[in-house]
Amino acid sequence: MPAELSGEINGATLKIVQGDITKQTTEAIVNAANSSLMGGGGVDGAIHRAGGPAILEECRRIVAEQGRLPPGKAVITTGGNLKARYVIHTVGPVWHGGSHGEEATLASAYRESLNLAAARNISSISFPSISTGAYGYPVAEAAPVALKTVADFLRKAKSSLKEVVFVLYDSTTFEAYARAFREITSKSG
Ligand code: ADP
Repeated sequence: MPAELSGEINGATLKIVQGDITKQTTEAIVNAANSSLMGGGGVDGAIHRAGGPAILEECRRIVAEQGRLPPGKAVITTGGNLKARYVIHTVGPVWHGGSHGEEATLASAYRESLNLAAARNISSISFPSISTGAYGYPVAEAAPVALKTVADFLRKAKSSLKEVVFVLYDSTTFEAYARAFREITSKSG
């Protein structure tokens, strides 16, 4: 069974796949960074390793100019050696039990990334599952927030974005997103 689901919203494709985001050919990929923008473990480390030093160089410049990146915000750099032309770096919330604004911050991380992509006229973008690794956000709760935020963005107005892909690394994460995806698409008919 192919680990892939997709649907259409307002002329754009929303897709979930299982795979490695560093291999994606979308115009931009999103990094689940931390506020220092200096790289780290998980998907952040994988993106910097695959993309090379040009990404870190631009991240350094951004932090020197505007300081650390707050959770829920996003910035854009080159994709360096990646197939993707751009990396959008965003910071998700650290999970502290769910009553500390985690959901709003997670939605903001997705929305700000999409806004930045649209402002740059980007047509396709891949997201990892933000905050559900080291940051501890339960994936069953994060998946519907992630998918709803993207679906709402696409529904609200047509933008340059014609393809949004969630690239989920492991099968547990993929299954959580698949469940949320089916729920959202069954509700909207
Ligand atoms: P956070 O700190 O935001 O929780 P992590 O990188 O620790 O970020 O984890 C976020 C998700 O990214 C996890 O589901 C993890 O398995 C996944 N991940 C790790 N490496 C990759 C990769 N190369 N491509 C896509 N997803 C990845």
